[in-house]
Amino acid sequence: MIVILKHGVDKEMRIPLIDWLQSQGLGVHISDGDYQTVLGLIGDTSHVDMDLIASLGIVDSVKRVSDPFKCCNRKFHPEDTVVQIGDVKIGGGNFAMIAGPCSVESEEQIVSVAKSVKAAGASLLRGGAFKPRTSPYDFQGLKASGIELLKIAREATGLPIVTEIMSIEHLPLFEDVDVIQVGARNMQNFDLLRHLGELRKPILLKRGLANTLKELLMSAEYIMAGGNEQVILCERGIRTFDDYTRNTLDLAAVPMLHELTHLPIIVDPSHATGRAPLVQPMALAAAACGADGLIIEVHNDPMHALCDGAQSLRPEQYAELAEKVRTVREVCAK
Ligand code: PEP
Ligand code: MN
Repeated sequence: MIVILKHGVDKEMRIPLIDWLQSQGLGVHISDGDYQTVLGLIGDTSHVDMDLIASLGIVDSVKRVSDPFKCCNRKFHPEDTVVQIGDVKIGGGNFAMIAGPCSVESEEQIVSVAKSVKAAGASLLRGGAFKPRTSPYDFQGLKASGIELLKIAREATGLPIVTEIMSIEHLPLFEDVDVIQVGARNMQNFDLLRHLGELRKPILLKRGLANTLKELLMSAEYIMAGGNEQVILCERGIRTFDDYTRNTLDLAAVPMLHELTHLPIIVDPSHATGRAPLVQPMALAAAACGADGLIIEVHNDPMHALCDGAQSLRPEQYAELAEKVRTVREVCAK
């Protein structure tokens, strides 16, 4: 249920209503917008007398929200959420470029890629240290030392770092990581999500390989229900019957999610396609359909990458992509 307050109702005036709602065992999520304040009621509202609330002088209207996702629902929070990482903003018209290798392989590699993507205008550096690999015999990432190398690359470039967590046991290693990524394979690792909800740190939540948008939003809800509202959603392609591309990029998810949620939505054309030549066209399409950012795999030597070389761009290809994305965004803003 949401309660929309009348324009001009100040913080003092709403306290008795919020106290009364909380005394009935409900959580109250407050969204202060420029034009209106929305109180989102969380919990079992079946016993709440809607007519009584609607009759209060400070209340404009009361609506039931039947969607199972509440905190991330745009009805609860009409304005876009802007996630801020240092000086970098994502959402609400702020577009972020995240780039870097699939996996951190060495200091030389990560620093070199970090410098080149920074020169091409990237705002955050990605790099996997804990890698979820289909085969246990494949490179599993440099783990803790990979995170240390990411910090060295951050020091060298000033780029905040984004890296994936696979197990809650590793959380202490992520204390100084700027954005924690939850990969597609862990989108429904509810215990992990619940723990990340206790943090006050941005979480990049990728859509699962075969998950619906509602399931993605319910996973965001796990994080937000714990009080961590800094969630960035990522469309990274889903499993379909076609296998020319690694996955099928569901770009309709971008405008659909913008309608359903106030959270920022970025697109990963690298994992979505699995093929370097397809990354630029899909990145441009993502920028055109309203994504709030892109996450792209870039490697200084894709032929010898330890992971995902086929979908990795060389730094100069990334620079060309970034330039074209800027052009598309300018055109779409007109
Ligand atoms: C990644 O971004 O490194 C990754 C493993 O992606 P996904 O979880 O989308 O497969
Ligand atoms: Mn990868």
